[in-house]
Amino acid sequence: MSLTLAIVGRPNVGKSTLFNRLVGKRLALVDDQPGVTRDLREGEGRLGDLRFTVIDTAGLEDATDDSLQGRMRRLTERAVDMADVCLFMIDARVGLTPTDEMFAEILRKRSKHVILAANKAEGAAADAGVLEAYNLGLGEPIRLSGEHGEGMTDLYAALMPLADAMEEKQPEDVPQTDIDLDEDGETEGEAPVITADKPLQVAVVGRPNAGKSTLINKILGEDRLLTGPEAGITRDAISLKLDWGGTPMRIFDTAGMRKKAKVQEKLEKLSVSDGLRAVKFAEVVVVLLDAAIPFEQQDLRIADLAEREGRAVVIAVNKWDVEDNKQEKLRELKTSFERLLPQLRGAPLVTVSAKTGRGLERLRDAILRAHDVWNRRVPTAALNRWLTAMLEQHPPPAPQGRRIKLRYMTQAKTRPPGFVVMCSHPDKMPESYSRYLVNGLREDFDMPGTPIRLTLRGQG
Ligand code: GDP
Ligand code: GDP
Repeated sequence: MSLTLAIVGRPNVGKSTLFNRLVGKRLALVDDQPGVTRDLREGEGRLGDLRFTVIDTAGLEDATDDSLQGRMRRLTERAVDMADVCLFMIDARVGLTPTDEMFAEILRKRSKHVILAANKAEGAAADAGVLEAYNLGLGEPIRLSGEHGEGMTDLYAALMPLADAMEEKQPEDVPQTDIDLDEDGETEGEAPVITADKPLQVAVVGRPNAGKSTLINKILGEDRLLTGPEAGITRDAISLKLDWGGTPMRIFDTAGMRKKAKVQEKLEKLSVSDGLRAVKFAEVVVVLLDAAIPFEQQDLRIADLAEREGRAVVIAVNKWDVEDNKQEKLRELKTSFERLLPQLRGAPLVTVSAKTGRGLERLRDAILRAHDVWNRRVPTAALNRWLTAMLEQHPPPAPQGRRIKLRYMTQAKTRPPGFVVMCSHPDKMPESYSRYLVNGLREDFDMPGTPIRLTLRGQG
């Protein structure tokens, strides 16, 4: 069961250009197919390993009469109803227009999922328009340049979870989309949500030659990666879906990209940021180190970035097969890890050989565990019992003779775990006391290695 994407927006924002990019030469049908009206084009789209149906609502260029608005509205509504997800495009060089607002309203009412795209966003001339797009209230806009192929990775990232969810549904599992109509014929209530389990999203990052390709190939058990993504629009395609010992995972491949980039110098810059992008898409980031040169600047930077982005992190030390003195080396590694990446305290460090396959099971377990911790939720009652004990053990400081009172605590979010503490004078709370609490949470609720966010909130 494949995903259907409708590209909607006012004329001239660049819908057809993107359509052509997604569908490419495979455009089997333009116009006049049974079931597809003349104003809607439909084609088989590809983006990386994603396959989906694209509907383009272009074809209104020469409609200049007064009925244009009405026709656009009807056409868009039809496309929206046919689609699982709508890509709503604005022209970032022009900025928001009243017509854009009209489209936004249709989409807010009718569409299950909307991806907002600020197109023509190559270059700084589009910055203001991209910012304006936030005002539509449809979430963060993707910076896109359909003409230059920029932003395809971000589009991929937006589509991928939806496509995965569709694909994993057996046809008989497809939820009935019971849409209630009120007397105006408008849809009411919550849009149906696609709820199938998503594969665990893993990024493997590390310096060139750390062994990323070798590792992923070993996990795949075949040489699929080196063949790389397919030519064409897929050049910044980045992920592989696989079943690793019974767990569906999606692994972001940053190595394959770099190899391609060698061939195409022009892509060099694009591929450098690819590792960073992969971190953003991932739930768990595996930082792959070369045992011979572990914890180089570049490794530390990406590990720190992963922590700051709130990802679960697993450190994997590769090429373990060539180490002679394994015990001594492991001690050294652990010491360096604690010293150089204190913010990742307790994150799993596993040794592997991508070449021989040793340690891969350990790596997989570490990934699953890290993901589990990252998703952990601590019940509020337990948290507050814990907080009371922590306060007794070490009362908070009393700046200028007035003790800071911590009153109540709750876990506001997971992935990664985030906690809110209600307290008096949050601005006066020293960093060291927050750290005491975070480290305590980590230990007492068994959340090693995951970034923990603690927010202090004052009470009016
Ligand atoms: P549609 O009416 O929304 O389907 O828009 P088209 O795809 O026909 O594009 C309208 C115009 O915008 C054409 O001249 C395109 O070349 C131009 N265009 C499309 N995408 C981009 C882009 O990413 N950047 C820039 N600068 N121009 C674009
Ligand atoms: P990437 O740039 O991170 O994708 O690294 P590659 O996978 O291309 O590996 C770089 C080099 O390290 C290649 O020559 C691999 O054969 C070698 N290599 C990768 N993993 C291992 C390993 O576990 N042990 C040994 N001895 N060599 C490895």
